[in-house]
Amino acid sequence: MIIEPRTRGFICLTSHPTGCEQNVIDQIEYVKSKGAINGAKKVLVIGSSTGFGLASRISSAFGSDAATIGVFFDKPASEGRPGSPGFYNTAAFEKHANAAGLYAKSINGDAFSNEVKEQVINLIKDDLGQVDLVIYSLASPVRTHPETGKRYKSVLKPIGGDFSNKTVDFHTGKVTDISIKPAEGDDVANTVTVMGGEDWKMWMDALNEANVLSEGVKTVAYSYIGPEVTKPVYRNGTIGAAKDHLEATAFTISDDLKAIGGEAYVSVNKALVTQASSAIPVIPLYISLLYKIMKAKGIHEGCIEQIQRLYSERLFGGSLDLDDKGRIRIDDWEMREDVQAEVTKLWETASTENLSEIGDLEGYSNDFYNLFGFKVPGVDYEADVNEVVTIPSIQ
Ligand code: NAD
Repeated sequence: MIIEPRTRGFICLTSHPTGCEQNVIDQIEYVKSKGAINGAKKVLVIGSSTGFGLASRISSAFGSDAATIGVFFDKPASEGRPGSPGFYNTAAFEKHANAAGLYAKSINGDAFSNEVKEQVINLIKDDLGQVDLVIYSLASPVRTHPETGKRYKSVLKPIGGDFSNKTVDFHTGKVTDISIKPAEGDDVANTVTVMGGEDWKMWMDALNEANVLSEGVKTVAYSYIGPEVTKPVYRNGTIGAAKDHLEATAFTISDDLKAIGGEAYVSVNKALVTQASSAIPVIPLYISLLYKIMKAKGIHEGCIEQIQRLYSERLFGGSLDLDDKGRIRIDDWEMREDVQAEVTKLWETASTENLSEIGDLEGYSNDFYNLFGFKVPGVDYEADVNEVVTIPSIQ
């Protein structure tokens, strides 16, 4: 079939298998071009099909020749109905990993559930024995708690008072004012339950109890801080409370792993266009200004550049360079004083009229379409494509 993008707000309902595969190939080529990373050899990535998790899986496999197990929650393709991008990305990843002689198996299911944890543990036992790196890169709006069966929803709200600021509809370039009401009731607690560290700890406890973590294992979860302009709605808001919890959990997990010499870290990553971040008000406007500034300074990075640098320079490069809260800061270039000072200046004047000039709206929009395999250079979108792609390890 011929597959075209069909967008609704900040989601795209269709995705393109060839475009997704090309994205994966481009990321693989980037990692290979940077040379070998002396990293982990048996890697579990939880949230492995898109964004930072996919970049982590690719960096491990093609930077360190690692065997990888990926866990994600994606819609398979069926006749006449394209699958979700993570499904196509994983199919492409496994295809290229297998061609390179690398072990790669995947589990498509709810990572919050006990069943998926058990499936992963059995797979590790059967195939790898133990893993030496666990990347935790889930981004989800909901979580069904495995002990109670209760479904929790996360919300993106400020805490304590209204938040009013500018935002942009990146499809039209229209800059408008928005106002978001503060969290109420169980909003904060629910968001922490979904995006905090409880599930990360549950994973590490389950893996540790099953004795499938090797001596000196490392585990890393991803966090975000961001600029002053998004602080009330992001870092000081409900999602920030969840990130505080996730970051605190790293210390608990490190304690739990002491007996096997394991370590847990949080890496604070750069703001990037992913399915998760497009949904957060104000962030698209910030990202479009940030991209323009970082590209002009020659310091712009995507997910793959971020994770390749995280692995090669920090995690396996001998210099974690932790901040005063014990976090790895791979958002260091985004948070540079000169970059942030320019964002603040541009933010004040940003309007519908000038955004295409002072911001990188085109870069934002392209990145958004790229997430779904569209507008990827080198792909013939007129060509008939088979939408029913399968993931080799999931038949
Ligand atoms: P993403 O939406 O691209 O990826 C999320 C992954 O989680 C996908 O593989 C998806 O299939 C998987 N997933 C979601 N729910 C699942 C479930 N119930 N079971 C199994 N898999 C599930 O998101 P991302 O932007 O790469 O975010 C990953 C992490 O990085 C998050 O913790 C996020 O907060 C953090 N982060 C993101 C940014 C950013 O700007 N995008 C910046 C810094 C940190």
